[in-house]
Amino acid sequence: MSRNDYSPCVEESGTGLSNSFWRKRDASMTTILNDEYYMRHALNEARMAFDKGEVPIGAVVVCRDRIIARAHNLTETLNDVTAHAEMQAVTAATNFLGGKYLTDCTLYVTLEPCPMCAGGLLWSQVSKIVYGAKDERKGYSLFSPTILHPKTTIVSGVLEDECSALLKEFFRQRR
Ligand SMILES: [Zn+2]
Repeated sequence: MSRNDYSPCVEESGTGLSNSFWRKRDASMTTILNDEYYMRHALNEARMAFDKGEVPIGAVVVCRDRIIARAHNLTETLNDVTAHAEMQAVTAATNFLGGKYLTDCTLYVTLEPCPMCAGGLLWSQVSKIVYGAKDERKGYSLFSPTILHPKTTIVSGVLEDECSALLKEFFRQRR
């Protein structure tokens, strides 16, 4: 890991205020930092896909502040159109947990899930989905915006520019 810009900002705040002050003061800021932190791990997975000649999409599953699964798109490697990063991540996470539901988990993925993956995520009962770039052509919100469970929290646009830049670079090189 070359970047370290998501280390806890409280260490460097220079205000002399205690860490607990910041935690209590602005829980929403903490959440944003965490979302970016975990999205960077998903981006690392996307870069691994890139290096293999796979469309660079990566995902991680987080349960109680711990990454329990990491995955990236493997459609070329496995010769399987369903081998999207999210599907790999859900399978890895349920293998880790030993149960088929992800009710206490958050899935981070660099690109908006497609309808297939959104369906898989519905079945998984994942509690929160965070994605980076919007998929203007194949995103679930274009085709089936209500497919996810109403209780599933969805956050979009986290590190969007970095997530989409990687995809653009991949397709630019392929032209
Ligand atoms: Zn998908």
